[in-house]
Amino acid sequence: MKKIGILGSTGSIGTQTLEVVRNNRDIQVTALAAGSNIDLLEQQIREFKPGLAAVWSKEKADDLRIRVRDLPVRVVSGMNGLMEAATKGDVQILVTAVVGMIGIRPTIAAIKAGKDIALANKETLVTAGHIIMPLIRSYHVRLLPVDSEHSAIFQCLNGERENRISRILLTASGGPFRGKTREEMKDIQVEDALKHPNWSMGRKITIDSSTMVNKGLEVMEAHWLFDVSMDEVEVVVQPQSIIHSMVEFEDGAVIAQLGTPDMKLPIQYALYYPQRRYLPGERLDFSKLTEIRFEKPDLENFRGLALAYEAGRTGGSMPTAFNAANEKAVSLFLNRRISYLEITDIIEGAMREHRFISDPGLEEILETEQEVYQYIESRW
Ligand code: NDP
Ligand code: MG
Repeated sequence: MKKIGILGSTGSIGTQTLEVVRNNRDIQVTALAAGSNIDLLEQQIREFKPGLAAVWSKEKADDLRIRVRDLPVRVVSGMNGLMEAATKGDVQILVTAVVGMIGIRPTIAAIKAGKDIALANKETLVTAGHIIMPLIRSYHVRLLPVDSEHSAIFQCLNGERENRISRILLTASGGPFRGKTREEMKDIQVEDALKHPNWSMGRKITIDSSTMVNKGLEVMEAHWLFDVSMDEVEVVVQPQSIIHSMVEFEDGAVIAQLGTPDMKLPIQYALYYPQRRYLPGERLDFSKLTEIRFEKPDLENFRGLALAYEAGRTGGSMPTAFNAANEKAVSLFLNRRISYLEITDIIEGAMREHRFISDPGLEEILETEQEVYQYIESRW
C-alpha cells in the first residue's frame, strides 16, 4: 500500500487526487492539509481516514478538532501544521497542491525528509527552483510533475535520458481571450476571466491562464524540471488542449503526448510512475477530431508571457518578483480592486522596481515576496 500526503486537498488538484485514490484503492492517504474549507476537509477525513490533518487557520483547526473527535486524527494548524503534514513519517509521496509561494517551505522540508514530490504547485519551482533542484538530487528523491504540460514532457522523455533535447514545445490553449487586443480586454470582469474554455481549475490559475501568465510560469517550471534554458522552451498555442506538450530532439524528431483534457491522468501518472493504470473517461476520437490547430502566442497583447520570459532569463530573484506581483495582482482583481489589464501593469511595475539579487536564499526569496507586496500596496 502506497502512502501519500496531500497539501491543498480541498482544491481542484487536491479533490481530483482523492478521486484517483478512490478509483484505485491501493493508496492510503495519511496526511491532508487545507486552508480554510473545513466542511470539505471533514468529509475527506471521514472518507480517507488520515492520521493527520492540517488547517491553516487556527480557529478553523480548533473547530475541526471538535467535529472529528470521534476519529483517530490529529488536527494541527499554521505553517508548523503544514510542515508536519509535509514531513509525516509514513508519507512516501507528497502531492503539493496548495496555491502560491506558501508551498516553498513545506516542499523543501518534505524533500529533506526523503519524500518524493508530486508537484502541482508551480509557484514553488518558479521562485525557488535553484534551491529545490539541487535538494532533489542530493536527497535522491523524485520530482514528479503534475502540471499537464510537464507531465506530457516527462512522458515524452521516457527512455530518452541519454538524448539531448533541442526544444520543448509547450502547448497553450490561449485561454478565453485568445485573439483579443488589449483594447478589447480592458473591460473584462472577474466572471469573464473565470471561464476557461477547456479546463476547470482553481480561481487563481484560471485567471493566470486567461492572462497567459500561467504559461509564463510553466516555461520557468519546464526550465527547472528539464534542465533547459528559457529559450529552449517555445510556447505553441493549440486551442483545443489535445496535445499536452511536445519535445523535439536533435535529429528533428518531435514526440508528443495527446489525450482529452483531464487532470486525473497526470495526477495518476505521477502517483504510479512509471506504471500506467486504467483511467475511466473519454478517449480521443480521431475521426471526429478532423484537425488540430496551432498558432503563435501573441506576446504583445498578452504581455504577461513576455514578462515571464524576461523574468526567467534574468533569473535570480526576478522570477520571485514576477510571481509575487502576479499573486497579489490576481487577488486584487478577484476582489474587484483593480481592472483586468492592471494585472500585467502591476507585474511590470514590480519587476522594474525590484532590487535584483542574483542567488537568493530562502529568506531572501520570502523577503522579496514581502517587498513586492508592500510596493503594490503602496501604489494600488
Ligand atoms: P485551488 O484554489 O483549487 O486549491 C488550492 C488549495 O490550497 C485548497 O485546498 C486550499 O485550501 C489550499 N490552500 C490555500 N492556502 C493554503 C494555506 N495557507 N495552507 C494550506 N492550504 C492552503 O487551486 P488548484 O488546485 O487549481 O491549484 C493548486 C496548484 O496546482 C497551483 O499552484 C496551480 O498553479 C497548480 N495547478 C493546478 C491545475 C488545475 O487544473 N487546477 C493544473 C496545473 C497546476 P482551502 O480551499 O481549504 O482554503
Ligand atoms: Mg498546465
